[in-house]
Amino acid sequence: MQPSMFNVSVPLPERNEVFLMNTFSDAQLLVTPDVVELLDRLERGAASMDDAERGTLEELASHGFVVATRDQERRDLETFFSDLRESTDQVRLTVLTTLQCNFACDYCIQGDHGDYNKHAAKMSLETAARVADWTESRLDALAPSSFVLTLFGGEPLLNLPVAYYLAERLWTACQARGMSMLVNVITNGLLLTEEVVDRLKPYGLNGIKITLDGDRDTHNRMRPLRGGQGTFDRIVANIRRVAHKTRIAIGGNFDADSVDSYPALLDFLAAEDFAPYISKVAFKPVIRQSQPAAPKGFIPLTAVGGEGKPLNGACMTSAGTGVSRVCDTCNFVDEKMSYLREETKKRGFHTMDGVHMGPCEIHKKHSYTIGPDGALYACPGFAGESQMSVGHIDAAYQARRSHALEQFERLSAWKECHDCAFIPVCAGGCTVAAHNELGDMHAPNCHKSSFEAGLVALARDATRELASA
Ligand code: SF4
Ligand code: SF4
Repeated sequence: MQPSMFNVSVPLPERNEVFLMNTFSDAQLLVTPDVVELLDRLERGAASMDDAERGTLEELASHGFVVATRDQERRDLETFFSDLRESTDQVRLTVLTTLQCNFACDYCIQGDHGDYNKHAAKMSLETAARVADWTESRLDALAPSSFVLTLFGGEPLLNLPVAYYLAERLWTACQARGMSMLVNVITNGLLLTEEVVDRLKPYGLNGIKITLDGDRDTHNRMRPLRGGQGTFDRIVANIRRVAHKTRIAIGGNFDADSVDSYPALLDFLAAEDFAPYISKVAFKPVIRQSQPAAPKGFIPLTAVGGEGKPLNGACMTSAGTGVSRVCDTCNFVDEKMSYLREETKKRGFHTMDGVHMGPCEIHKKHSYTIGPDGALYACPGFAGESQMSVGHIDAAYQARRSHALEQFERLSAWKECHDCAFIPVCAGGCTVAAHNELGDMHAPNCHKSSFEAGLVALARDATRELASA
């Protein structure tokens, strides 16, 4: 017997206890320090144990804290990732209905800047019909129990005919096959109306994610219209009108200048009548063009996508943190993420706990992203980068994409993470960020300090829950 390599712990001296978690089994326990000492002795190969200690180890083994051998645990990890990859329980489809956007975000060089929207792709109804045909054939081949459609862009509400068509047609397809279906929308919120919600609700509308980049003034600076007009008040008014009809999730992209305005945004949201309808609040750093030497106070995040086009038209709200592991300000970002998570929780909003962060969609073969022209991508962060397309809804275009597909099928950056205890919840970090910053999608993009901070917060929350029970 050996302690699992995925055990993590946080001492809680004020209670004379230790928070013990296994990231693979997800078991969480509050134990006395002698239990940790027992695990340490096992690690060192202690031969003699009394009956009580053996009983404790058996109990720990039943929760995954003790395993037969590390070799077996490694094999179990391989099986976990391969099962995750091949799982057909749920098929997920993210459709970029358009790459056009009605915002001129400060940190995004597409959207309503210059003549970008004139040339940005938009899905036609004919293509949407072929997307639906393709999806139905996937549903027939894989027979999942559930299907999730996410409408994304650009700004997806700029192409409502395609959004409505796909939701209605795929709902009918799922009903006919006895499968459940959910629809998510990721939008900037400007065109969100009751009509949009009412039209999508019968087809399984699950929730709408809207981006607010800080308090009113900061958001208006970061996410204006082309003429510079602010968008905060209009978005909030739209949320007020629809919040009682569907779940609203709030996202936000922060940088060094804007991060301090987020507590004011949280105060504002907490005071709103629609606060109880907010299902989740989660913020992450802005992705910027990488710079050779970042000025002080600037978070040198890398634009996702090449040729000067962050994300190549996919809205940046999709991508992971994108921070270089060699970057000096990496800790700053991780620290700020932890800070904002705590501020969010203080106001009573649900947020990510900082530990259960993955593995993300890219590790699931049957999570598909489709661009406006029908090209398939491994995740929204690669959408629009044509050489990274892994396929196409039309088989005729398929052959030349097999090289990219092969690249994504063997993704396993976590194998370079040796015995890191966070592998089951991280899987080596964001592949898009690794591809852009390190030039190697197979390399880990590490934010271990962020997981460690999340673990400390999780331990505190678990302790608080116990104390109030
Ligand atoms: S690789 Fe994962 S974390 Fe990164 S953008 Fe894609 S889905 Fe998100
Ligand atoms: S990227 Fe870092 S935190 Fe994630 S599994 Fe690898 S070593 Fe661990």
